[in-house]
Amino acid sequence: MKRSYKRLAALMVAAVLIGSMAACQSQPAETSVPETTTEAQTTTAAQTETETEAAGAYTPGTYSAVATGMREMTVTVTFSADAITAIELEHEETPGIGEPVCDSMPKQIIELQGLGIDVVAGATLSSNAVLEGVADCVKQAGGDVDALKAIKPEIVAEEDTEMTADVVVIGAGGAGMAAAVEASQQGKSVIVIEKSTQMGGNTILSGGAFNAVQDGSDMAKKYDDSVEKHYTQTFNGGDQQAKPELVHILTDQGWSAVDWLKDLGMEFQDTPTTVAGGLWQRGQKPVEPEGTGFFIAYQNYIDQNQGLEVVYNTTAKSFIVEDKAVTGVVCQGKTGNTVTVKANCGVVLATGGFAGNVELRMKALEGSDKWPVLDEKIRTTNTSNVTGDGIIMAQEAGANLIQMENIQLLPLGDPNTGSLSGNIGHGATSFIFINKEGSRFTDEGGRRDDMTLDLFKQTDNFMYMIMDSDTYPEGTELNNFGEHINDLVDAGRAYKADSLEELAEMLGVPEDAFLASIEEYNRHCPGGDLEGEPDEFGRTLFTDAEKKNNGINTPPFYAAGRVPTVHHTMGGVEINENTEVLDTQGNVIPGLYAAGEVTGGIHGTNRLGGNALTETIVFGRIAGRNASGYER
Ligand code: ADP
Repeated sequence: MKRSYKRLAALMVAAVLIGSMAACQSQPAETSVPETTTEAQTTTAAQTETETEAAGAYTPGTYSAVATGMREMTVTVTFSADAITAIELEHEETPGIGEPVCDSMPKQIIELQGLGIDVVAGATLSSNAVLEGVADCVKQAGGDVDALKAIKPEIVAEEDTEMTADVVVIGAGGAGMAAAVEASQQGKSVIVIEKSTQMGGNTILSGGAFNAVQDGSDMAKKYDDSVEKHYTQTFNGGDQQAKPELVHILTDQGWSAVDWLKDLGMEFQDTPTTVAGGLWQRGQKPVEPEGTGFFIAYQNYIDQNQGLEVVYNTTAKSFIVEDKAVTGVVCQGKTGNTVTVKANCGVVLATGGFAGNVELRMKALEGSDKWPVLDEKIRTTNTSNVTGDGIIMAQEAGANLIQMENIQLLPLGDPNTGSLSGNIGHGATSFIFINKEGSRFTDEGGRRDDMTLDLFKQTDNFMYMIMDSDTYPEGTELNNFGEHINDLVDAGRAYKADSLEELAEMLGVPEDAFLASIEEYNRHCPGGDLEGEPDEFGRTLFTDAEKKNNGINTPPFYAAGRVPTVHHTMGGVEINENTEVLDTQGNVIPGLYAAGEVTGGIHGTNRLGGNALTETIVFGRIAGRNASGYER
């Protein structure tokens, strides 16, 4: 099998019995998980015999098809006269996102002898590619694709169960896994409840870079950076609406988060990047694509240590509250069964934001005129499992919600899906935005909200991101989302041309305006007659510290269409410096901690690009540590 990445250990963790390592109360913690609780969906075919016969009549042999997931994959299927006997994939899907699907789906299809399998949320492209590739082979073998699609796995009802651990974490995304690993490092047993089939949430789909600076370090000196500058840019970049004490925690502890991740085995590139809307070259970039590096590190930790279990396919519904303290969570298992999870110590809420919940975001924006109506026509970068559940649960338990109207959009969404897939920008130093009239319209190095508001004023709310070979010197490089630029071009999701004139023609924008826009931009780049001077949009970011980018002047030239997309919700559950959740009177809700996008008040009106991942590690760890030390 052709793989371009290291193989990520399967993220679906089978049910295991984990012993308590240390209890917060006098009684020992017990984690008894009946095996049925996290068993993968049983894939017994629910079809009738006649259906099987009709569907399973093939011309024996081996057939191949090419399908497109994140990248092209080759699907090879072997048939006997009445069965699918083998499926092989040659793929380069992203570790932790598409790769687990490529491992699990072929097995499910063979076991089921059918194609009625659900796509995996967050990995829809990969899931669909596997299903389409196999369907193509079925067709070639003379099988009945529609009949196979009608064959679905039989759902075997699971029993109600109860589990206990020292610390219970809800949500296996960035903040939840940081909390879980930290609590485990404190010697506690930990259960993480996760709604989907794999860990990662929106964090794994992100560009991966996170802002952090170590005062006085060589890197800080080289990039003229400091914790104070990070603080000031974050606080001012959110219009000073964030809670200053939380911003200080974020920026003061950013670098210790890097060290902690390195101790867990995560690797970073030597040179920081300027994340779009990040305002400074301090985005620490993982070696692994997207946010996969974090979860490879967390999964390795789980594999090497006992006492941390992730329970998948389980959705938290409400908190267990005893004597005003949160002592656990009631969840719904995959088949509608009840899974009750009790904590000897604290419960950490880390279910992410609500950008993907149209109803909630519309409600949050009532009375605010910052954005146009954010109804379902405006898509989101978020995975479909992150829908503000934790915010609703916390509110029901008396939590105070703050700054819910602070919603972030990006100008970088895929025109069809709203996702960040197909975003060809590497760092904000090297690209410009062009509207359908061939003109620039904003400061591409500016704040995310300003850029997106400017995009909403353009024809069809649509723009092209333009760059040259400074970003893709060989043409074989990946974007920040693990996609090969050439694959995106082949798929018609990006454009590549040997001259700017040719690119203008491909995009259908007026050539004169397009060439003039680029000529004017280049005057401000290294070597231009206005080098370093702000341009008409106030842009001051024309290259990086290494002066690697020197304007848009070296073929081949690249472009990709982009639209506004809802990305991050900065409002949410109110917390204090200890990540304890506060009620509407400002009192701590005993036993309940929260971290990550579910919380509010860390970013203010606008979040700097690259600060969200810092938030997940810094506040996730604080929550994990404090939940470990909580005693009732
Ligand atoms: P953050 O960046 O704050 O860590 P993420 O989006 O990375 O947020 O992760 C949030 C995680 O929480 C996702 O994996 C999502 O599937 C999970 N999640 C959301 N709602 C629930 C719920 N009700 N029960 C369990 N897990 C949930």
